[in-house]
Amino acid sequence: MKFIEKTNLTSLLAQLDAQYRLLVPVDYHGLTQFAPYSQVDSGVSQLYLDGNVTVSPKTVYLPQSEAMYKFSAQGKKLAIEEMPPLDRMQVLFGVRHCDTKAIQCLDKVFLDDTFADPQYKDKRDKTIVFSLACNNPKATCFCESMGIDRAHAEQSVADVQVYDLGERYGFEAVSDKGQACLNALNGMTDGEAKLPEQKPQSISFDAQGLPEKLKEMFDHPIWDEYAFKCLNCGTCSYICPTCHCFDINNKMRGTTGLKLRTWDSCMFGEYTQMAGGHQPRPGKKERVRNRFLHKLQYFNEKHNMSLCVGCGRCIAKCPVNMDITKFIRQVIAE
Ligand code: SF4
Ligand code: SF4
Repeated sequence: MKFIEKTNLTSLLAQLDAQYRLLVPVDYHGLTQFAPYSQVDSGVSQLYLDGNVTVSPKTVYLPQSEAMYKFSAQGKKLAIEEMPPLDRMQVLFGVRHCDTKAIQCLDKVFLDDTFADPQYKDKRDKTIVFSLACNNPKATCFCESMGIDRAHAEQSVADVQVYDLGERYGFEAVSDKGQACLNALNGMTDGEAKLPEQKPQSISFDAQGLPEKLKEMFDHPIWDEYAFKCLNCGTCSYICPTCHCFDINNKMRGTTGLKLRTWDSCMFGEYTQMAGGHQPRPGKKERVRNRFLHKLQYFNEKHNMSLCVGCGRCIAKCPVNMDITKFIRQVIAE
């Protein structure tokens, strides 16, 4: 393991920033998210390493709104111009382990065996992920109950694993890309360290057998109970590190335009609205049921993993306190 004193972290980040496009967790007037390191350097935002950020690193790979290509009409012909790939490697520093698992969920969708989304793949290939283990979970965290290892990040996503060791940070490369990146950094010492103790999570349950139970509950009255208070505002989808649905639309000016993909939410009525007016999910009940079943049953059936990683963001941000852990425990108790 390599070490750096906490007081020297900014010099390490400055080195990374000089070599890569560096994205770090920041606090910008109370909004925590990943942003370019220059925001910290210039004092616009503060580095935020006290817990997971509100806006997940999903935005790095699947931005809220992203141009897919440019087009322009030239007489009766249409010219298409592809968007340029990232022009340099980037480092994403401080990704929590639940979010490394969430990126693996996104990989299942965007790097499918039959089709790799070129824009997503470009960002995945050109990003070195420094994960950061959580010693002090937030009150809404329940990643362990969803099978996440708080000491070790998802290996297919993390390149360097970082540990908060009190007075210093420990760095362990877990991929060749990560090793090469660490080798190029100055000012680190080598040695061995005991992994830090992790405070237990206050939310804890055994989710074994959850997909199988849900399979039998499509017509259960539990959906009326949960749909009753939901506002279908979509906050839970936007804040979720694994929700990945998007809509595609055009932005035109004169004869040129952009084809954009923009986050969508299955909580919105328009999401399933079809031409001709047919609406397969006409009410809140059908939409809430779809969200929970996609996260906890359907994705599991297709990819053998849950689409909820226990980050707790939807619990913290839902305006009517919808609590997915209460739902899971109720299903388990059925
Ligand atoms: S954030 Fe809460 S109220 Fe809004 S759609 Fe999600 S569950 Fe419903
Ligand atoms: S469903 Fe909620 S707790 Fe689960 S990953 Fe999404 S935001 Fe996090």
